Amino acid sequence: MTSSDRVSAPFGELLDTRPEALREAADDFGHLVSRQPLGVLRPRSAAEVRDALVYAGPRGIPVAARAGGHSLHGQGQAPDGIVLDLSGLSAVGPVAGDRVAVRAGALWRDVLAATLPYGLTPPVLTDYLGAGVGGVLSAGGLGGASHRHGLVADSVLELEVVTGAGEHLVCSPEHHGALFHAVLAGLGQVAVIIRATLRLSPAPTLVRRYCLYYPDLDAYLADQHLLATDRRFDYLEGQARPAEDTAGGWNYMVEAVAAHQGPTPPDDQGLLADLAFDSAEITDLGHAEFAHRVAADEELLRATGEWLHPHPWLNLLLPEDTAASVVSGILADPGFRDLRENGVVLLYPLLTRALRAPLFRRPRGQVVFLLALLRTAAPGTADPMVAANRTAYEFARAKGAVAYPVNALAMTPADWREHYGDQWDTLARAKGVHDPHGTLGRGHGVAY
Ligand SMILES: Cc1cc2nc3c(=O)[nH]c(=O)nc-3n(C[C@H](O)[C@H](O)[C@H](O)COP(=O)(O)OP(=O)(O)OC[C@H]3O[C@@H](n4cnc5c(N)ncnc54)[C@H](O)[C@@H]3O)c2cc1C
Repeated sequence: MTSSDRVSAPFGELLDTRPEALREAADDFGHLVSRQPLGVLRPRSAAEVRDALVYAGPRGIPVAARAGGHSLHGQGQAPDGIVLDLSGLSAVGPVAGDRVAVRAGALWRDVLAATLPYGLTPPVLTDYLGAGVGGVLSAGGLGGASHRHGLVADSVLELEVVTGAGEHLVCSPEHHGALFHAVLAGLGQVAVIIRATLRLSPAPTLVRRYCLYYPDLDAYLADQHLLATDRRFDYLEGQARPAEDTAGGWNYMVEAVAAHQGPTPPDDQGLLADLAFDSAEITDLGHAEFAHRVAADEELLRATGEWLHPHPWLNLLLPEDTAASVVSGILADPGFRDLRENGVVLLYPLLTRALRAPLFRRPRGQVVFLLALLRTAAPGTADPMVAANRTAYEFARAKGAVAYPVNALAMTPADWREHYGDQWDTLARAKGVHDPHGTLGRGHGVAY
């Protein structure tokens, strides 16, 4: 019996082994790692997910859940295993009061489309709404409202999951709490999420966006600290941008948003008080247009073909006391020079007390900074960039940073132990109980 027969025997026609299906399951948004599974299953129910895991576990067959397919480095792939394509488990709603139940294969744009007609939205959304519910909840999910409301995963009230051991369970902070906390921001290590019940907040109809420009990193970081802690804006992000006039220099831009329902606009003077920016641009947008802003970039990048180029991305969380030296060091590193032409650098603050999922690792301190180095590589040029990610990770880690693990970075078992720190034993215990055969989430390279 070949290994392919070994997998296909119990699933028959449900297992897609067509070469094009295998190729697709061996690809992701990173386009850097390609490991083919033996087959792709498209479960139509939690029972079919359970059947797959009950079969695969004792036979040592790896299983990876795939929601939106936006992993950066093969994290959602299952070499010689089974990819569970959850796109068929994508129902959203109905909205009930201030909550909505969503299937894990839905995309965040589907979630917003279902909630906005009720004047409601998830309290935090990631910048890009084309990612999958299961993938973002497994990572944690950061966005401009995170300084106020924490992670996307922090708005989950209840989860329906199938564990690696094949148990079909509903969990919440009160019921199977350890499992609930091991799943959210848990990188799919212990269970496949089937459904999540999300808490919703009132959605504004309009937003006023303030882009505030700074020539100086220290002044930028100081103002970002102030804005994160006094929470005067509803949404707070920011970027480092290549300076046009100085060779190799960088400028900085706070991107802050005040939401409102009209007709009275936000108080510009109050919102911009005590800040040290050089210049400002203020624009008014509809809330939905703002929430979908990356869709226009996606359309453009698909048209130019760059959407399908490799993405050697690196996301780091920096402690405030070393943020300036880490940012300056990385932006001056020749290994990141291409960022000036082919990248976006996000740099924005988070309040650690707002980040609640215990497995979401964060550096020391009350305020920390996300540094997202988002590069696009011409085909065949990504290897040195992935190597530079490693150097930057080690440089930043020595200064107290941790990875936000949605990266083109191969983390070693030792990296993972250090990453999880005092949460390592909790994760390893949950893995032993809920995924004793080590079936799930192998693409991340965590070794127990
Ligand atoms: C253009 C773009 C912009 C982004 N912007 C942001 C941002 O602003 N903030 C942010 O936080 N992130 C952002 N990300 C990162 C994104 O949130 C993560 O890459 C996320 O994990 C992608 O989820 P997915 O479902 O699309 O990917 P997938 O590759 O399908 O899944 C990602 C991981 O989650 C696991 N997984 C998927 N579904 C399940 C499930 N049902 N149960 C258990 N595990 C599961 C997979 O096995 C895999 O390990 C962005 C990514 C892209 C491509």
